[in-house]
Amino acid sequence: MRYIADHDFHIHSTVSLCCHDGNQTPEAILDYAEKNRFKKICLTNHFWDERVKSEAEWCDEHNFEAVSSVLPLPSSENVEFLFGCETDMDFNNVIGVSKERLDVFDFVIVATTHLHLSGNTVKKQILTPEEAAFYWLDKFESLLSKDLPFKKIGIAHLTTGHILKGRTDEVLQLLSDSSLYDLFKECSYKGAGIELNVKTMNMTQQQKEIFLRPYFIAKECGCKFYLGSDSHKASALDCAKENFEDVITQLDLTEEYKFKI
Ligand SMILES: [Zn+2]
Ligand SMILES: [Zn+2]
Repeated sequence: MRYIADHDFHIHSTVSLCCHDGNQTPEAILDYAEKNRFKKICLTNHFWDERVKSEAEWCDEHNFEAVSSVLPLPSSENVEFLFGCETDMDFNNVIGVSKERLDVFDFVIVATTHLHLSGNTVKKQILTPEEAAFYWLDKFESLLSKDLPFKKIGIAHLTTGHILKGRTDEVLQLLSDSSLYDLFKECSYKGAGIELNVKTMNMTQQQKEIFLRPYFIAKECGCKFYLGSDSHKASALDCAKENFEDVITQLDLTEEYKFKI
């Protein structure tokens, strides 16, 4: 049975500083879910837990008080609205959520690929695809080695443009099949979800091959996938479902590959 696009587990609201759309409220997001007949959605604003010590500087606006200010989330008969967050790993690979707070969230997305945040996720600005490829693998491996409740952990946008501006395709091509197999086998064993939000609709065949290769390997390793639009504005919600359907088709995903919270 074809994988059903019935959820979106990566959505930001106005609480995230990078969301500049005042209309991106939990109510508007619930409305988006209703229109697309989603059964479950998850709000995942940026979060760095103030209880976690880091040598990097994280903005106070993304502390626990801020992310929890959305509670209680609006609900409806058809849609379950989950409370989550998107956290980071600093340049020492410290993860931005404490054990106590892990219990509070329904779902925690970890971004291992926010490699554009020099001074935070990486010490110095990354300039070459080789450096970016090193950190791509290093952060992913480090995340999987941690003591975490992986059944409620998602790994965000592994092929995002944040990896290296305008050169993500070059970085992805540097990741060897064997490194990817090793990581995704471990990921499958631990049970973390792999996020799908790659926008395949306007890609050339060559781009699709480059951007989908990690996901095909993940699929072969038995990983489970969730859909996450990573929408920061109301207009991005409009085409989210169409993007989801396209990537499901490209990867030929069935319901067996669905990550469930
Ligand atoms: Zn992100
Ligand atoms: Zn995000």
